[in-house]
Amino acid sequence: MKNEDGQVALKNAVKNLHQVSGRCGIREDLVLRMMQSMERIELSFTPLLSSGESRCFKAYIVHHNRDLGPSKGGIRISPTVSLDEVSALAMEMTWKTALIGVPFGGGKSGIGADASTLTPKDKEILIRGFTRAGMRHIGPELYVPAPDMGSNEVDMGHIRDCFSYSQGASITRGCYVTGKPVLLGGIPGRREATGKGVAMTIRRAAERISIDICGSRVAVQGFGNVGSVVARELHEAGARIVAVSDVHGARFDKGGLNIPDLIDHVQHGGKIPEVEMGEQLNPDELFALDCDIIVPAATGNQITEHNAHRIKAKMIAEGANGPTSPEADLMLNERDIFVIPDILCNAGGVFVSYLEYTQETQREQMTMDMVEERLQQRMNKKFDEVYRYSREKDITMRDAALEISICRVADAIVARGLLP
Ligand code: NAD
Repeated sequence: MKNEDGQVALKNAVKNLHQVSGRCGIREDLVLRMMQSMERIELSFTPLLSSGESRCFKAYIVHHNRDLGPSKGGIRISPTVSLDEVSALAMEMTWKTALIGVPFGGGKSGIGADASTLTPKDKEILIRGFTRAGMRHIGPELYVPAPDMGSNEVDMGHIRDCFSYSQGASITRGCYVTGKPVLLGGIPGRREATGKGVAMTIRRAAERISIDICGSRVAVQGFGNVGSVVARELHEAGARIVAVSDVHGARFDKGGLNIPDLIDHVQHGGKIPEVEMGEQLNPDELFALDCDIIVPAATGNQITEHNAHRIKAKMIAEGANGPTSPEADLMLNERDIFVIPDILCNAGGVFVSYLEYTQETQREQMTMDMVEERLQQRMNKKFDEVYRYSREKDITMRDAALEISICRVADAIVARGLLP
């Protein structure tokens, strides 16, 4: 996302807050408090890379809100990440944690680097450098990071190691980071939790709007952690994944792509356009395909006023954060396309992060079955709550999700009491 895009994302996030607060009659002083991030930290660090040269990196940590608990949100590694983009994502995390009902606020981090060009050793150097530089702003009662675009479980293991090392202990006192390897106190199923949660909400929504998942046609933009798991889950449920894309290009097969082979290809470092399967597709055409469900699972601002009118799908499930611009949202609504908003659709990850947080605090070990059962229950319950609210008030799923969550945060501020 370019710098200006980050500014637009933040402006849109603030606009959403104003609109919802106006509709819900939230007091102006509370709105002002929710509009501002509690802390916006800009860091720079200069680690020595494995080539023997040092390089300066910029990074950002934003704690948007801690009224319901410590800030929670992933680390985005991207060459174009900006403080405004991270702030917008942190605000969105505040609504997401409130909506899914976990005792966290919202936060986010960004590191300005292209993770795909770094060797594993240099990635580790980058992550350790970021952790050392940001150490004072991370902690179990302050801000607990997790994976996001460009970061993964291995990186979270290194963050955890940095903290335990700094404390001179083999473990950390409390949970400093989620999405760690299971061996290091991580929870089974965290890596897949976001994608599985997206697939769960899609199935729930499909029942409501009469789409039979078995045989349905699905297009997935982005084939990383989230996109590949959604594709696999829906493929296993009998859907035809007719198109997938990554940052390099897209592939299409109207009979359905072979998702297990595609995952294998990507896990071995392959790019989507290089795979010998189906046919090449211009990535710009993915959203215009004749299909039932579209899952944007890449980056922000992908469905805009320039392509929303070409969408033929009946449902859009936002695996990515902020993939739809407000203008496009209005157009989709006018055309009765059912949108599962990001703060609901992709909240499975932060829900399972919460399970990991409690597991670490209580020195417990949850099994995959326990995690999946709790994830399924929570996603269904929250989907139903938002769906019911949107029908009762005759508003979109996005407006319903935002109203429920923003009112919850406002209530938490009042319950805590404003400082005299
Ligand atoms: P990832 O880095 O694992 O994968 C990102 C994928 O998107 C890659 O395949 C990449 O090539 C592709 N991509 C990037 N830009 C693209 C573009 N312009 N067009 C097409 N493909 C593009 O990231 P992820 O963890 O899967 O996250 C994807 C999205 O989901 C992000 O918006 C992230 O904020 C959101 N999200 C992730 C989690 C999580 O637990 N990982 C949780 C909630 C939300």
